[in-house]
Amino acid sequence: MEQTEYHSRTAKTVAALLCAVFLPLMLIMTAILCMADAAAEHNRSAVTACFDTAVAIPASADITFREHIFQMRDCFAVLDSAAGELEVPEDVPPLDTTLVKSLFYWLNYGNESVRLSEEQAASFVACFVRFEERTREVERTEDPGEDRPEDPEPTPPPEEESEQEPEPVTETYQAAIPLMELPDIFQNLANHLNRSIDLQTQSGCLEIYYMVRYGEASRGGATDELIDILIDGESEYIGGAAGSPFAEDWRGHVTCEFGNGHRGIDLAFPTGTPIRAVASGTVVLARYGHYSYGNYLVIDHGGGVTTLYAHCSALTVATGQTVSAGQVIARVGSTGNSTGSHLHLEVKQNGTLVNPRTFIS
Ligand SMILES: [Zn+2]
Repeated sequence: MEQTEYHSRTAKTVAALLCAVFLPLMLIMTAILCMADAAAEHNRSAVTACFDTAVAIPASADITFREHIFQMRDCFAVLDSAAGELEVPEDVPPLDTTLVKSLFYWLNYGNESVRLSEEQAASFVACFVRFEERTREVERTEDPGEDRPEDPEPTPPPEEESEQEPEPVTETYQAAIPLMELPDIFQNLANHLNRSIDLQTQSGCLEIYYMVRYGEASRGGATDELIDILIDGESEYIGGAAGSPFAEDWRGHVTCEFGNGHRGIDLAFPTGTPIRAVASGTVVLARYGHYSYGNYLVIDHGGGVTTLYAHCSALTVATGQTVSAGQVIARVGSTGNSTGSHLHLEVKQNGTLVNPRTFIS
């Protein structure tokens, strides 16, 4: 009895202490998160207004904001028309104009004035394709300028002639083949703009793209939905036997196991320690400043298998890049929701989180 009372008193004291200490902390945290959300929301509404001309700009919006939206909309129209000028063959995927505009948006974000001539738009859009000389069969069309004036009442041609009429001719044209590899596109843009486009800027460009293309799926905590969209579940596994995310053995560094709500495994290493891809694959997501994961990236190993590396101090590869097992992809840090320098590693198989211990070696 006494024991119970003592315990319940202790519990009450502890609860009171917890409230006294943590409640203000939690309120501060909530306030910070709300501020971050407000900034993200503002950003999101600017992007939406630029991409969707049907969206009315709120009357309360300040003049700079409105100016920015109108300029971007004008540029987007010029970019769309430049993209429309390209001759993309039907047997290749069409040019993703949302990608073109998203990259343009972020590369010009914060510029006081954004304008684009037709010529500039054409050379910007050209960074997203490669040109290839192709031939096609076209029906020879009679030159109306020569025949019509002298023959105002066209008489239907005799049967025999009309059968011979559609005489196909082969013509050569410059086919625009959309580039599928993001690193190639960024390289072309860097050459065109005559400036380097660092990995974080590349990531920012793609955030705009995800926002426009995938909407709600692009935000959120675990980003599972976005990853599912970005990977090709039908592909074959190309990862090979998975190794360690570090040059040295990881086993002595586990500070938090998988399970009980923990989505991965925590491996404590000093800040800056190189992180390696545990298996070969393609980087499908490289994000900076996520409120929970911090700087993180996701590798698609094919066959529905992905690995995620969170809280990094630096990412050294970009989205779309092919990486081989053991290649350095990032550096250990404590960004996002983290209390110490460590790597949070997640492994997913066909949409389900699995214990990384069963995957890496
Ligand atoms: Zn963790």
